[in-house]
Amino acid sequence: RTVYVNGVFCPETEAVVSIFDRGFLFADGVYEVTGVLDGKLIDFSGHMARLRRSLAELELREPAQEDKLLSIHRQLVEKNDLVEGMIYMQVTRGAADRDFLFPADDTKPSLVLFTQSASLRDKPAAKTGLRVVTVPDLRWARRDIKTVQLLYPSMAKMEAKRRGVDDAWMVEDGCVTEGSSNNAYIVDAGGTLITRPLNHAILHGITRKAVLRLAAESGLAVEERPFTVEEAKVAREAFITSASSFVLPVVEIDGTTIGDGRPGEIATRLREIYIDEALKTAV
Ligand code: PLP
Repeated sequence: RTVYVNGVFCPETEAVVSIFDRGFLFADGVYEVTGVLDGKLIDFSGHMARLRRSLAELELREPAQEDKLLSIHRQLVEKNDLVEGMIYMQVTRGAADRDFLFPADDTKPSLVLFTQSASLRDKPAAKTGLRVVTVPDLRWARRDIKTVQLLYPSMAKMEAKRRGVDDAWMVEDGCVTEGSSNNAYIVDAGGTLITRPLNHAILHGITRKAVLRLAAESGLAVEERPFTVEEAKVAREAFITSASSFVLPVVEIDGTTIGDGRPGEIATRLREIYIDEALKTAV
């Protein structure tokens, strides 16, 4: 693979970041993952808007303007012949002598990008649905900032694996916050789509924003409010969204079957509509 690191494209085996990089020592950095379909970027401007917000919240400098970042993304797609998959972009505060205090303003942020080839459109889970378990949400209280501190989500996914299922939904005060790397939704008996509102408790998913708009446009009732694990277990449908999974149905929560145990109609339709639109609007 050809990767990008601080101004240069090079083979992944030659890419180097300092051991003093604050991303490495303090998880002092943020990232974005942009989906690629037919060699084009899905909702690139949405991801860049969220990146700017994450950077601003941490007083991190913008590593480059949006048009420059778009050009780097496109060059990586081309150099790696990427047709379908993701581009990972990470910005950290850069290398400085180890100190909890942020270094002086002239420290250069580190910018790293790489591609991951993956099948996004044809996913077995779209037809079978995902099985999830709930775990307590033990992350920090600013989950709206997309930082690289992913240890707890990693532990939650390991717990799901140990318990023989696909993923974990995280729970705080009895309510589902989100999935380990995705936003969580249910559809109640009346057909209303319910998902947690945007605040510091969850990541403001780029896919979430698009899917909620598409749901409203297709006439679905949408309620942004916290929902309990009990509500989720008796829901008609459940599903998740993220840049790499789009929309995927959830068919089991903590061993309880959701609906008839097959992917729900609404989740399946939203997945189709989302992919159609992504293909039309990708850049
Ligand atoms: N929530 C968490 C905790 C995530 O890590 C992610 C994506 O990685 C999402 C939600 C979904 O966000 P997006 O749709 O922007 O990929």
